[in-house]
Amino acid sequence: MELRLDGRTAIVTGGARGIGAATTRALAAAGAAVLTTDVLDAEGEALAAELRGQGLRVRFAHLDVTDESAWQRCVAEAVDAFGGLNILVNNAGIGTLADVETETREDYERVIAVDQTGVWLGMKHAVPAMRASGDGSIVNLSSIFGKVGGFGGSVAYHAAKGAVRLMTKNAALRYAKEGIRVNSVHPGFIDTPMITGIKGTDLEAAILDATPMGRLGRSEEIAAAILFLASDAASYITGSELYADGGWTAR
Ligand code: NAD
Repeated sequence: MELRLDGRTAIVTGGARGIGAATTRALAAAGAAVLTTDVLDAEGEALAAELRGQGLRVRFAHLDVTDESAWQRCVAEAVDAFGGLNILVNNAGIGTLADVETETREDYERVIAVDQTGVWLGMKHAVPAMRASGDGSIVNLSSIFGKVGGFGGSVAYHAAKGAVRLMTKNAALRYAKEGIRVNSVHPGFIDTPMITGIKGTDLEAAILDATPMGRLGRSEEIAAAILFLASDAASYITGSELYADGGWTAR
């Protein structure tokens, strides 16, 4: 079954590169009008222009997900430009490798602000527009590290991604009777700029060893999971967590 999103409007955060860019491509190719957003303006504008050149409906807007007034502007822009809002992909994310003792308060709070508070702000401002549009699907990017403890590092990232996993279920219950579904996607290690720093290190070798499929994932493989949850093919799915992790959490 081909997954189609014709007539739907989407906002994607962190859409300029990596999983967010692949998701922007996938949603637009499926027929959605997409407002893709990021703090990387040049990359985001270039992606939107490329996709418009293919005849797809894509705009770019600057959005720092920690900025509440910017969220309000973006939701209004999506509604004004495309006539409504049906899909939100809360994808923007950052991480640090530091553990409990070596993490700094500044970095800890920054990761929580982007990865956790940013997801809540997105849902807070998207839901009224989805309600007005008659339906909604929110897909929040958690991680395998929203479920399991990894290698004992990245304490802030685990804290934020664990919160996203449970905030997703809480929101799913809140909006279940209003036609707004809320689900989380949990990637394993995906070959994006986020993990550039660990390529070729012992950590990458440990990651590949811990991944039953023995390879990194591709952004397109996560975008496919997001597209499924965004689409009507997932019409009875809410509050769920979808792992696209090469088998990592099956152990
Ligand atoms: P990436 O670093 O390639 O892309 C993240 C994007 O988010 C970037 O374009 C960046 O500019 C943007 N961003 C960062 N801070 C922002 C902010 N304050 N406001 C708006 N945008 C901001 O990373 P990716 O691998 O594509 O990750 C996408 C999502 O998937 C993240 O939530 C990440 O935690 C999650 N994830 C990634 C992996 C992986 O291995 N790559 C694994 C599990 C989960």
